[in-house]
Amino acid sequence: MSNRQEAEEAVRVILNYIEGDHQREGLLDTPKRVIDSFSEIYAGYQEDIESILSSTFNAEGYDGIVLLKDIDFHSTCEHHLQPFKGKAHVAYIPVDRIVGISKLARLVEAHARRLQNQERITQNIAQDLVTHLSPLGAAVIIEASHGCMQCRGVKKLNSVMTTSSMRGVFFEKSEARAELMHLIR
Ligand SMILES: [Zn+2]
Repeated sequence: MSNRQEAEEAVRVILNYIEGDHQREGLLDTPKRVIDSFSEIYAGYQEDIESILSSTFNAEGYDGIVLLKDIDFHSTCEHHLQPFKGKAHVAYIPVDRIVGISKLARLVEAHARRLQNQERITQNIAQDLVTHLSPLGAAVIIEASHGCMQCRGVKKLNSVMTTSSMRGVFFEKSEARAELMHLIR
């Protein structure tokens, strides 16, 4: 892996490629700022999924859908290094353990703040719920708009991509899916 100094130098090379000059005032500290911003944009690599989902509580017999919807997220498309952002809806049906609701949002962040594609984020979140909570079902729906489609290529500003991953009872039973969709809409 490159160190920080090499990463800043690489940004300088790219600035030179774009404009042929990185010495003007507005660009002088740009390499530093860009690399600084990475500690937030790519913070997901520092997150430990198991510890996020480890603080669980007794469900006390609750066996309905737990849904956290409209979780805003921001990620980076690994194909173009362009941002993509939108909302995630994360649901599960507990068997006997429930997880603190804010952990679902942290789980989304842990996957979004990496080099990603939307399909992988969707699947990984659902898989983490299955692995760590052993629920009756888990469901993840993500709606996002992609910078790489808005400012380049086909230049579609308002198209939204939707992905979903349905596990357990959400995969097997259309009634469970229908109830979930009713709660989300
Ligand atoms: Zn892209």
